Amino acid sequence: TSSQPPILTADSLTKSFGGFRAVNDISLTLGAREILGVIGPNGAGKSTLFNLLAGAIPLDAGRIGLDGVDLSHARPEARIRAGLGRTFQIPRPFARMTVLENVMASAQGQRGERLLPALIAPRRVAEQERANAVRAREILDFVALSHLEDQPASVLSGGQRKLLELARVLMAEPRVILLDEPAAGVNPALLDMIIDRIIAINQLGIAVLLIEHNMEMIARLCPRVIVMAAGKALAEGAPSEVTKRADVIDVYLEG
Ligand code: ADP
Ligand code: MG
Repeated sequence: TSSQPPILTADSLTKSFGGFRAVNDISLTLGAREILGVIGPNGAGKSTLFNLLAGAIPLDAGRIGLDGVDLSHARPEARIRAGLGRTFQIPRPFARMTVLENVMASAQGQRGERLLPALIAPRRVAEQERANAVRAREILDFVALSHLEDQPASVLSGGQRKLLELARVLMAEPRVILLDEPAAGVNPALLDMIIDRIIAINQLGIAVLLIEHNMEMIARLCPRVIVMAAGKALAEGAPSEVTKRADVIDVYLEG
């Protein structure tokens, strides 16, 4: 476990699909300044774990806490508001919206979307929109996508879509981000960039839970990893240590 005060805690999370236990009694503690890796073969339950943490699917059993607040049964939007952000293994940008519009769509407290404030205080709504645009542009600069802000998201490469995912999650001002395979389908030139941005995000004080198959990325980013296999936590420790274990090597060979 981490030596830091925890920001995110998961206790005995369990989820079945039909009779199949995709996540089976997983517990973890993420330190407030930590980058914790989650590795394991395909089908191990890693993305399902993220779906449970983000509230995309309900828990069968277990408890999720963010900085002492129980989020076990909170709606996904409430978890985002509480500071829990996530990216998807397969990015899903709004293809016909521009890159900038995609980032702005993640802003918290979207006054413009609510009719009443727009009628009562249109000037305040417009001010908020302008402030959001300034912030969205700062974030696009941070992920090096500024030059594409007016392009539709559909023109982005795989790696650029991953960076747009990062930008969207940052726009919601998270304290914890869940990254599901940020290196998948990314060319080597952008990989270094993504690693560097994750380090920078963490240095801003955001804790990171990172699912990744790319072991170079895991080794560079994560002092500690949890190895999942068949829904369970098989091992936990430094990447260089756990990857030497015979049982860990076995599940990768089987998978
Ligand atoms: P990983 O991300 O580690 O590759 P997943 O969490 O995506 O694994 O999947 C774990 C297992 O749960 C897989 O066998 C997968 O087919 C199954 N699974 C995931 N989501 C669903 C779902 N919504 N309905 C049924 N089975 C699912
Ligand atoms: Mg997955």
